[in-house]
Amino acid sequence: MEKIPYKIYLNETEMPKAWYNVRADMKKKPAPLIHPGTHQPMTAADLAPVFCEELIAQELDNTTPYIEIPEEIREFYKMYRPSPLVRAYCLEEKLQTPAKIYYKFEGNNTSGSHKLNSSIAQAYYAKKQGLKGVTTVTGAGQWGTALSMACSYFGLDCKVYMVKVSYEQKPFRREVMRTYGASVTPSPSMETEIGRKILAAHPGTTGSLGCAISEAVEVATTNEGYRYVLGSVLNQVLLHQSVIGLEAKAALDKYGVKPDMIIGCAGGGSNLGGLIAPFMGEKLRGEADYRIIAVEPASCPSFTRGKYAYDFCDTGMVCPLAKMYTLGCDFIPAPNHAGGLRYHGMSPVLSELYDGGFMEAVSVPQTKVFEAAEQFARVEGILPAPESAHAIRVAIDEALKCKETGEEKTILFGLTGTGYFDLVAYEQFHNGTMEDYIPTDEDLKASLAKLPPVD
Ligand SMILES: *Cc1c(COP(=O)(O)O)cnc(C)c1O
Repeated sequence: MEKIPYKIYLNETEMPKAWYNVRADMKKKPAPLIHPGTHQPMTAADLAPVFCEELIAQELDNTTPYIEIPEEIREFYKMYRPSPLVRAYCLEEKLQTPAKIYYKFEGNNTSGSHKLNSSIAQAYYAKKQGLKGVTTVTGAGQWGTALSMACSYFGLDCKVYMVKVSYEQKPFRREVMRTYGASVTPSPSMETEIGRKILAAHPGTTGSLGCAISEAVEVATTNEGYRYVLGSVLNQVLLHQSVIGLEAKAALDKYGVKPDMIIGCAGGGSNLGGLIAPFMGEKLRGEADYRIIAVEPASCPSFTRGKYAYDFCDTGMVCPLAKMYTLGCDFIPAPNHAGGLRYHGMSPVLSELYDGGFMEAVSVPQTKVFEAAEQFARVEGILPAPESAHAIRVAIDEALKCKETGEEKTILFGLTGTGYFDLVAYEQFHNGTMEDYIPTDEDLKASLAKLPPVD
C-alpha cells in the first residue's frame, strides 16, 4: 500500500462546500435556549435584538443536515485552508507505539486558532444584514483576534471587551486586534451603564468574562446597527467549525483510513464539535463507530464533574439559559493557563451527545498537559497552545496504552492552535512554579447550588 504522507492536503476543489449540521442526525435534539424570565424557548424574534438574523436561523435549525458555505466565506477560507492533516510519524517513533497518530492542525493562520472558521462566517452574515459592526468579549484573546481579522476583511466595526486582567497581562494580543482595526476596551469600563455600576461597587476590580459579556451585550443592543457575536458554545459556532471534521474526513478517506478514536480539547465545545461532526453523523446513523473523547482541564471539569441542567451562559445573567453540562455560572476556575478552556458550561449539542452516551470525557491536570506539550513540540516542531495540549496529552496516553497491548489503533486528534502568546505559562512550567489547581467537591457544590430552578 502507498505510504501515507506526513501531510495530507486536499485540493481547493475538494474543500467542503457545505457545513454539516449534526443536529439533523440526532434523534434526541439538544434542548432549546430558554428565556431567562419566562423559561419559554427563545424564538427568532426574541433573539433578533442581540444576534444576526441568518445566524439565528442556523442556531434554531435542528433539521437541515447540510448548509451551504457562501462563496465569499469559501474564498476567505482559501487563504488558510484546507488546513493540514498531519501523520505524527515523529511522535509515533518517539513513543515507540504501534498506534497511528494523526492531527488536524488549525493554528496556521494569524489568529493562531480554529476560531477564524466561525468569526469569518459571523462577520459575513452581519455584513450581509447591513449592520455597521459587532461587539464581543474575549478572555484569553484568541476569539477577539479572529473576529477582528474577519471584521477588517468585510469592513465591519469590531468592538472587543477584554477582561481587564487579560488586557493588562496580554498586551501583544491586544495589539494584534488593534492592527486589524478593532477597538479593544478593558472591562469593566466607564463606557457602559453596567460597567460604571460595577466600577462604582468594586473600584479597582480586574473584571470577569461575565461582566465583559454584560457590557458587550449592552453596547450591541443600545447602538443602532450592532449585534453581539460569540466564539463558542452556540450551535451556529459548532456548525461553522464542522469544516474541520469535513476536511479531516475527506483527507483520511483519500487513503482509506478510519480512525478508532477521535480526541479534542473542550472549552465551550466548538473545535471538538466541529472535528467530530461528520464522524458523529455516521455514528448516529449507525454507519460506523468511533470512540470520541473530550478532554477538559481538571481545574474546570464541566463534563466530568458538572451537572446537566439549565444554566445561565454568563455571570451577568442577561443571556438566555442553555441546558448543558455546567459547573454553575458563578464558578470561577482557578487561574490555569488554558484560557480558552475556562468556561463553566459546555455546548448544548455536545452535552446532549455526552448524556446520550455517544462520547466520553476525561479531565487532565495542567502540569501533565505541559509535559505533553513539550514532548510534542520537540518532535513535531509545532509549539502548541495550552488548550490544544490537552488533546495531545490524551492522544499520547492512548498511544502508550497501545504500546502495552500491541494494538495498532488509529488516533485522530485536534491541534487547535499555537502557543506563542502563552509563553508565560511555558515559563512557569519550566521554572517548576506551575500548580495543578483542582476544585474540591465543596467548591463545586457551592456554585452548583445556585443553578436556576427550571423544570
Ligand atoms: C478557544 C480555544 C479552544 C477552546 O474552545 P472550544 O470552543 O472548546 O473549541 C481550544 N483551543 C484553542 C487554541 C482556542 O483558542
